[in-house]
Amino acid sequence: MYLALLTNVPKNTLTELNEIQNKFLWNNKKCKIKHDTLCNEHKNGGLKNVDINFKVISLKLSWIRRLYDDNHHEWKIIPLNFINNILGKKFIFHSNLCIPSFIMDHFPSFYKDMILLWSKCCSSSPNIPSAIASEYLWYNSYIKIDNKVINFKEFSKKGINYVFNFFDENGRLKIWSDFKFEYNLTDKSSFKWYQILNSMPKSWKKTLADDGGNFRNLLHLDHHLIKNNSILALKKLSPAEIYSLLILLRNNIPTSQKYYKNIFTNVDIEWKDIYLLPRKVTIETKLRIFQYKILNNILYLNKHLFLFRKKDNKFCSYCLTEEETITHIFATCQKTNILWNDLRYHWNNIIHIPALNPQSAIFGFFQVDQQEFLILNHILLLFKYYVYLTRDSNKLSLVALIKSIKKVYLLEKKYLQTMNENLSYLTKNGEN
Ligand SMILES: [Zn+2]
Repeated sequence: MYLALLTNVPKNTLTELNEIQNKFLWNNKKCKIKHDTLCNEHKNGGLKNVDINFKVISLKLSWIRRLYDDNHHEWKIIPLNFINNILGKKFIFHSNLCIPSFIMDHFPSFYKDMILLWSKCCSSSPNIPSAIASEYLWYNSYIKIDNKVINFKEFSKKGINYVFNFFDENGRLKIWSDFKFEYNLTDKSSFKWYQILNSMPKSWKKTLADDGGNFRNLLHLDHHLIKNNSILALKKLSPAEIYSLLILLRNNIPTSQKYYKNIFTNVDIEWKDIYLLPRKVTIETKLRIFQYKILNNILYLNKHLFLFRKKDNKFCSYCLTEEETITHIFATCQKTNILWNDLRYHWNNIIHIPALNPQSAIFGFFQVDQQEFLILNHILLLFKYYVYLTRDSNKLSLVALIKSIKKVYLLEKKYLQTMNENLSYLTKNGEN
């Protein structure tokens, strides 16, 4: 970790580390879920697995934050001097930084690598008015003339460095005579003013006009990035922040989402709610992982096991007539449906359990009363798990299912009691 902060980690070391990680995760077998998906946040269908390459990049990039923090250190003198001389005294690191290679060649290789890494990894377009208005004009990949980024030093010297400089307090574009007067320019500069205006994306101008000038109170004119549609100051850019930004910018969408979108053409539930549901309804890791496998379409049942030659036939363990797939066994199988309906009937007086359809069977119940949301989804998950585990016996039993649900109920009750006891112990001691 410490070495990764400053030196270049050799490519083969990274490859080796990635291989060790994969072997550990998949037990030396073929990966079943893409590495990029696994690294996503829970709400985006991941398990927050560590992306080693991104970890190294985020540690490296934190050098830029340290360069501009408030502490004075001798080591900063040289790099800051290089940056000020080559890129200008007003230069700031921003989300759309794109410095031409002939300028980058003026930097020693370490600084060059850092700046290039920043440009490559942190690029993100601004959407909200304050972020657009705070865009730095120079070396900005969105502001190009003849397809080249620009840096007009005479404008920068006069204090014109940001998009907002071109707009008045009501969000309207300033006319040339006002602009010229405000920044003490001569008519010689009018063409450059016109060129910059012309090169700014139309959507930016529209957003700022619609905002009516409110952005002026929210400008951020120091080094910053754009994350999740908001401005993130360089000072707050810890390695963990950079890491999560890199994962976010990669914007990996799990392959299984496409698969399920094909089966259920009108899924009206947010995917993040689908992914977070198992984490809300249970604390049991095995149940969470079980549902995670269903959502990633890697819960292998007879249809696939037969293909892998691990089962004699591809048919459902219960009805023995249809292919055993996730949708069949949890939603359309007659036998498992009878069991679910028996359960509904059995607890009719206590709780209203909805009937199953393929979508709710796989994703969970979302259109139910908020008060019963967790319990109903927990019961559904336990039902699916029971159906899954009992396949070898080929026989479903209501008594056994209820027994397994009650066992979990008692366990969680006990767990809650212990938690409460610990809590009251802590509060008691806290009071003393
Ligand atoms: Zn069946």
